[in-house]
Amino acid sequence: MELIFEMSKPGKTGVTLPAKDVPAETKLDPGYMRDKAAELPCVSEPEVIRHFTKLSKMNFGVDSGFYPLGSCTMKYNPKFTEKIAGFDRFASLHPLYAQLAPGEALCRGALEVIGGLESILCEITGMDAFTSQPMAGAHGELAGVMLIAAHHRHHGNRRKYILIPDSGHGTNPASAAVGGYEVKTIRSDTEGVMDLAEFKRCLNEDAAGVMLTCPNTLGIFNPHIKEICDLTHEAGALMYYDGANLNAIMGKARPGDLGFDIIHLNLHKTFATPHGGGGPGAGPVGVTKELIPFLPIPRVVKEPGGSFELDFDQPLSIGYISPFYGNFAVLLKAYAYILLLGREGLIEVSENAVLNSNYLKSRLREYYDIPYDGACLHEFVLSASRQAEKGVRALDIAKGLIDRGIHPPTMYFPLIVKEAMMVEPTETESKDTLDRFVKVMIELAELAEKDPGAFKEFPKTAPVRRPDEVKAAREMDVACLSN
Ligand SMILES: *Cc1c(COP(=O)(O)O)cnc(C)c1O
Repeated sequence: MELIFEMSKPGKTGVTLPAKDVPAETKLDPGYMRDKAAELPCVSEPEVIRHFTKLSKMNFGVDSGFYPLGSCTMKYNPKFTEKIAGFDRFASLHPLYAQLAPGEALCRGALEVIGGLESILCEITGMDAFTSQPMAGAHGELAGVMLIAAHHRHHGNRRKYILIPDSGHGTNPASAAVGGYEVKTIRSDTEGVMDLAEFKRCLNEDAAGVMLTCPNTLGIFNPHIKEICDLTHEAGALMYYDGANLNAIMGKARPGDLGFDIIHLNLHKTFATPHGGGGPGAGPVGVTKELIPFLPIPRVVKEPGGSFELDFDQPLSIGYISPFYGNFAVLLKAYAYILLLGREGLIEVSENAVLNSNYLKSRLREYYDIPYDGACLHEFVLSASRQAEKGVRALDIAKGLIDRGIHPPTMYFPLIVKEAMMVEPTETESKDTLDRFVKVMIELAELAEKDPGAFKEFPKTAPVRRPDEVKAAREMDVACLSN
């Protein structure tokens, strides 16, 4: 495809500006003046539209097809939340208004959105307070690890490491390390959950906390949660719940009731705010009463009169972690979604997410290996090891899916499953869509038996076929797309 600069011809233009009706400013400091014109392509309006529409079609998105990306809920997001986020009263509010004009009515509604969302998240998770400031799941984890550290510092403890099972999300150990802790990885047992004996061996007074992705990346919920929480608390450490994909248990169980001290949620997964390509997102963090004094500033607090204000007076706080109280528009969309669905709707979300995942697992069991085949929640992990014996690896199956209009699942993770394909259908897919996915997966399994060589040609339909992935990352050349 042509680059927009290759379409450029001097004189063509896509905008018309009104005639200048003020005198030209001539007194600018020469240091600020351009010495040559800005390098912009000269193209007409239809050319710009067609160029970017073509580009957008080269990418795959959840609005263009099924996207069963395990561990990262990629569901269809209703467009009405976009409409709400676009309301002028919210969209045109200056991000510093609440700080510069405290007590003024203009931003009360926005503060109420944040305060209302935080209190609804408390109810959903059973925690005592939330901060909606973190701007991604991993950012929430880092904030959570900083809260763990602040708690131990406050009590005069020096603790060294955080325990994380090998079935946790990859960001868990990264966040613990960035937060200044060593990571002790606990292996999984044959059921696919953290090995309890190994956990007990590693837990001692040097442990600051335990981070559990729940359900874990195999889609399995740890049946020993109560015991793990009790043991951890006895050892003086804190329990962290990675609730990025709360659509697995929402309305059925509350991490606060289970004994967790800290939780983060990904609003951009569980609560219908679109994500991908790096953001924007929101990873609010919930805590128990004991940890409230350490939450980041400012806090959005409800005054006795019922209105919401910003509170900066928190001497034990871990401090500022985000500009402008987080990604406000994302918080707004999630709040609208929660209010739209209500209690029954949110429960139905989890039931459908879990039903869809179990349906796919049982339909595909005959054709692919499933090394951890216990009851799954919102996702499960297939293995292409049977196909790999014929020379067809999980990567080849992923390329075959692309040709059939389906986004590949998460590949080669978790590391404890060979040739892993982690499938999460989400709650928003119909049975027809799931059946089509099953049909394609069976077709690919049969092709792997009959004609494994065929896979080397896949994908045939994608603008980029099989890049050398290492080279693509190390020597990025975007112009190579133009063939
Ligand atoms: C997506 C995800 C994260 C990280 O969230 P980001 O917003 O991508 O930083 C952490 N844990 C789990 C279980 C996830 O699915």
